[in-house]
Amino acid sequence: MSNTPFHTGRHFLQIPGPSNVPDRVLRAMDMPTIDHRGPEFAQLGFEVIEGSKKIFKTRNPVVIYPSSGTGAWEAAIVNTLSPGDKVLMVETGHFATLWRALAERMKIEVEFVPGDWRHGVDPAEIEARLARDKQHAIKAVMVVHNETSTGVTSRIHEVRKAIDAAKHPALLMVDSISGLGSIEYDHDGWGVDVTVSCSQKGLMLPPGLGFNAVSEKALAASKTNGSVRSYWDWHEILAANKSGSWAYTPATNLLYGLKEAIAMLLEEGLDNVFARHKRYSAATRAAVAAWGLENLCLDPREYSPILTAVVMPEGHDADQYRKVTLDNFDMSLGSGLGKVKGKVFRIGHLGHFNDLMLMGTLAGVEMALDVARVPHRKGGVMAAMEVLTGRDAVTSQAKTAVA
Ligand SMILES: *Cc1c(COP(=O)(O)O)cnc(C)c1O
Repeated sequence: MSNTPFHTGRHFLQIPGPSNVPDRVLRAMDMPTIDHRGPEFAQLGFEVIEGSKKIFKTRNPVVIYPSSGTGAWEAAIVNTLSPGDKVLMVETGHFATLWRALAERMKIEVEFVPGDWRHGVDPAEIEARLARDKQHAIKAVMVVHNETSTGVTSRIHEVRKAIDAAKHPALLMVDSISGLGSIEYDHDGWGVDVTVSCSQKGLMLPPGLGFNAVSEKALAASKTNGSVRSYWDWHEILAANKSGSWAYTPATNLLYGLKEAIAMLLEEGLDNVFARHKRYSAATRAAVAAWGLENLCLDPREYSPILTAVVMPEGHDADQYRKVTLDNFDMSLGSGLGKVKGKVFRIGHLGHFNDLMLMGTLAGVEMALDVARVPHRKGGVMAAMEVLTGRDAVTSQAKTAVA
């Protein structure tokens, strides 16, 4: 039962990144590519460098690369660590596993805390492992803030407290690639040494920009560490940034977009942006529960505001189901990555998004469950609507009043 062989109207890009790019950002990028060493560019350069600091909540440097997020990971490692150094990482899911593999290729020795892909970083475990490391062999704790493969958000603030409680000097390096600009984050306030991010998730931009927000301690480490690097070197870029330029050709048109995206986030107010995402996430979870399906994330303190990973009922393939959503309703949902391939699908609810886009998304999910004959109960869309209108709260208040 295909709706129509032609897809009309807007495609629903409901993967958890790349996310939908606002028209305002697209228009801002529709500009001539200018001389990246000229005065007009310098103005743009200064604006995006300063503006980015507001999003990371830092007064320290933010290095912007023409790169994917993975490039920014590599940059974080080669600027701070030396081959043979030991680091502590946590298996929160696919992205943490990829980051580990990248670190090992850079000859970093990784102590990898095993995980079940349904929980975030356990701060107590970090504290215990650091407390055992009396010689301070561990040079960095490297964790993923929002694990995009599982829909689990770790409590970075508590990881910081765990490091401090163990009185350990390790650097704290955080991948907030899919958290930044959608989920509360405070680089300076949480004492993060390097925050790694990129453009195509919460920042609502096309792919192509990578970021390292860098603390003074990380900058100091970068002056003495022993990894070979050139393209990723912070110092060359920061030196050029002083005059609003880069050490090599930056992604000029993406920087126009970045300026606009930052303006949009600040106009709305970061706290409002964070609250909006939590609301989408609560409505989506209500839908999943009403369908009788299971959320991959098991700890309510760790529910991701930007995506929900849904466990497919036994005997049904998530990728087959995703094909049905794409063929019938022109909607892309996120696939299960790595260990959970075929077992989960992911609903992205981030970035340039609103209540009706969420309702369209959830209606598409529910209709496709029907078309694909995946066992479920009706009423997910209704349950989500009640969360968005506040009716669920009214109903439960009424129930309490009666009881
Ligand atoms: C998307 C993502 C990455 C990878 O970013 P690329 O731009 O594809 O290199 C890494 N970590 C997390 C948490 C992500 O969501």
